[in-house]
Amino acid sequence: MSSHRISPQLRRRLLHDARFRCGYCLTSLQIVGFALEVDHIIPEGAGGESSEENLWIACASCNRHKGSRTHANDPLTGHSSALFNPRQQTWSDHFQWSEEGTRIMGITPCGRATTHALNMNNPEVVAARSRWVRAGWHPPEDSALPEIGVRQNDDVGPKKSPGALLRH
Ligand SMILES: [Zn+2]
Repeated sequence: MSSHRISPQLRRRLLHDARFRCGYCLTSLQIVGFALEVDHIIPEGAGGESSEENLWIACASCNRHKGSRTHANDPLTGHSSALFNPRQQTWSDHFQWSEEGTRIMGITPCGRATTHALNMNNPEVVAARSRWVRAGWHPPEDSALPEIGVRQNDDVGPKKSPGALLRH
């Protein structure tokens, strides 16, 4: 990504407009504590320009997995779909959080294709999200959970040893 043509002022404006979080997985700068990247919604490799209307904010993982793609297959149907456009589309129209708040579930062809292509539920980030949930930092309030009152005290971490069930 050639970010040298993106001025610090534009970068700040993009961060502000994106509410300081990845437009795809909603990972927050405040939680991870290191810089998020400027994402070319239509990748430069596919002819996208470095103009504001083609730029948004993404985490390093989503940005890397997206690469130069504009489309990906919906894993449910196998049909190609355009990837989610965080500037023009609304996150909650295409994605929702799993009950425990750690997994992103695509609810449209676009949402499913994007979730899969960008590897938005890789084990590392799911483990991190379970800690964010316990801390009360996640999911973001404007990306509602499917139901009220689903915060659980269960062990939602990656280890599900039988011993974990004996606590209480
Ligand atoms: Zn992301």
